Amino acid sequence: MTQKLPVMRICVSCRKTFDRSNLLKITNDHKKGIMLYKGIGRSAYICKSKKCYTDSKIKKKLQKALKISFKPEFLDILERELQSII
Ligand SMILES: [Zn+2]
Repeated sequence: MTQKLPVMRICVSCRKTFDRSNLLKITNDHKKGIMLYKGIGRSAYICKSKKCYTDSKIKKKLQKALKISFKPEFLDILERELQSII
């Protein structure tokens, strides 16, 4: 059995490191703009613990980490994504 080496990333909320496959990834793609799970560019991650995805400041933390401000359309998408984890 071959095991892939996990890629570890830090959650923007709790600042703990997790295997990337267990994180919600938000990327500011240099061509397409903000994307979920896809894209190339500056990325921020949220772990799937209730404390983090229900963090009332999570959107602020993400925007700070990505150094951008989210458009209302993206906030809707993000909101739906976070609710689908619950
Ligand atoms: Zn977290």
